[in-house]
Amino acid sequence: MRDHPSDATQPSRRALLAGAAALLTVANPAAAQLGDILRQGGLGDVANSLDGLMKGMDFKEADELAMGTAYYERFIAQSGGRYNSRRAQEALRRFADPIIRTSLRPHLPWEVVLVDNETVNAWALPGGKLAVHKGVLRYAATPEELAAVLAHELAHAEFSHAVAQMKSKQFTSNLGGLGKQALVDRVSRGSLGSLGGTLTTELLGVLEAPIYEMVTSGYGRDLEYDADGHIISVFQRVGLDLGKAANFHKTMMQVLPKQTEETTSLYSTHPGTEKRVERIEKAVRKAKANNLAPGAPGGWAELKESFPTRRFRRA
Ligand SMILES: [Zn+2]
Repeated sequence: MRDHPSDATQPSRRALLAGAAALLTVANPAAAQLGDILRQGGLGDVANSLDGLMKGMDFKEADELAMGTAYYERFIAQSGGRYNSRRAQEALRRFADPIIRTSLRPHLPWEVVLVDNETVNAWALPGGKLAVHKGVLRYAATPEELAAVLAHELAHAEFSHAVAQMKSKQFTSNLGGLGKQALVDRVSRGSLGSLGGTLTTELLGVLEAPIYEMVTSGYGRDLEYDADGHIISVFQRVGLDLGKAANFHKTMMQVLPKQTEETTSLYSTHPGTEKRVERIEKAVRKAKANNLAPGAPGGWAELKESFPTRRFRRA
């Protein structure tokens, strides 16, 4: 005999929903807080609520891994696609390997890719995903210059700079009206929290464009200084000449026009690159001298065969 379905299932379903709501509150207090603001009819100051929401988000490594997985291929495609040479890709991987092996998060699924893009840029996604534009290879005159670029990007992923920047006003203001509205919709429907991480597939979709903008155009000043500072630690561990730690920054000052609008993860006017060079060189003077590794780093010769060094910027 069949049970009467509504009698049998409704109370337990209600209990389940109450449990889920409680879980959401525990898992994501910021979402609950924004939910409260919304319920009180405070749609008026959505931007402030979003700042609060992002600030209060407790991003876990699982979220960083989710971002890396969800965005890496898409961002590579958006930046110009993989450079179509297995030999060059392999050479870059070989070159980057000792640098990546300095990571204090060796369990991350580290990857590096050469992107078919002439801009002098490189970027990193949370969860250990690195990308170097071929424009960097054309202007990096020595292994130390390319190593500095990789060490800088490694630092962004290593020290979770993306999730730090996502809590800034700058990030939420880049969300745009549609992004804000979508985020608020998700929050008010209670679909923001998830177990084991705070980023759902839906939320990853909403955040994709501003995160792309963020990783390819640079972080806040302090995070950039932080990433520059890491060049020195990596050089010490890999055995590269500390005296050359700031050389790629100097190259960028030479090849990029002074009035450039180009702001990248590596080059920006705030902080100015001159200031960045000064800071790196000051830190080098304080750093312990290291033993240099013998021989040229693996992959370098192959990369330079494909990308002979240019001294002047070509449009
Ligand atoms: Zn950077």
